[in-house]
Amino acid sequence: MPGPTLVVACVACRASYLLESLHSGNTFGARCWTDGYQHAAMPPDTPPITPCAKCAAFFWVDGAPEIGVFEPWDATPPPIAKGARKVRWLKEPEYAEALASGHATTPDRERVLRVYAWWTANTPRRKRATAARDADTEARVRANLERPAAMLDVDDARERLTAAATARELGRFDAAAELLARAVPPGYERVGAFIAELAAKCDDRVRELTERASEGTGESGNGGNEVRSVTILGEFQQCVDVPGPC
Ligand SMILES: [Zn+2]
Repeated sequence: MPGPTLVVACVACRASYLLESLHSGNTFGARCWTDGYQHAAMPPDTPPITPCAKCAAFFWVDGAPEIGVFEPWDATPPPIAKGARKVRWLKEPEYAEALASGHATTPDRERVLRVYAWWTANTPRRKRATAARDADTEARVRANLERPAAMLDVDDARERLTAAATARELGRFDAAAELLARAVPPGYERVGAFIAELAAKCDDRVRELTERASEGTGESGNGGNEVRSVTILGEFQQCVDVPGPC
């Protein structure tokens, strides 16, 4: 169900943008992958950071000044909304640009940028696990994954699971196995076992875990279709969508 649409301004040039909202999200039928990405049927559609089409600056959506609001049933949007663009998601290389241009102003924001960069890079492989990357993309993806690997606290079970997921995608299968030999967060046992199984097979590709990792958990009340995704690097993501061919 659509909620109010906010009109916000680019922090650099004041160009106006529309932020659509949902009154409630719906994760029914969500599909989850080993990188923690979850694709839901009705995801919220607001990216955390967007590029300005007018001045090319990146700006964090939650820090953009609100300059107007209107409801979906309003016959006439306010004049401030005239000419406003919709915010868009960054493309994979743009996350590296945002990081390089100083937009990771806090550790949480760095995590957001790196996780979305990771997820976006994996988008083609959600459809076809063997999808190739060019050398530049591969180098960028690896550099991006090295950083969380260094930032994560492997004595924390949740972060350790994320560290194992990144280690596997970096091809460090023994390191992933070692991390997964320790306790995983409650409720993520099958996720951990699945990633360990992939590591044992020297499989470094993102894989869907919906069916394999959730079967028989019996805790969702909807026949086992609902799964918890690996919550990567904290609590900021629940049910997000990354654009692309996925
Ligand atoms: Zn701008």
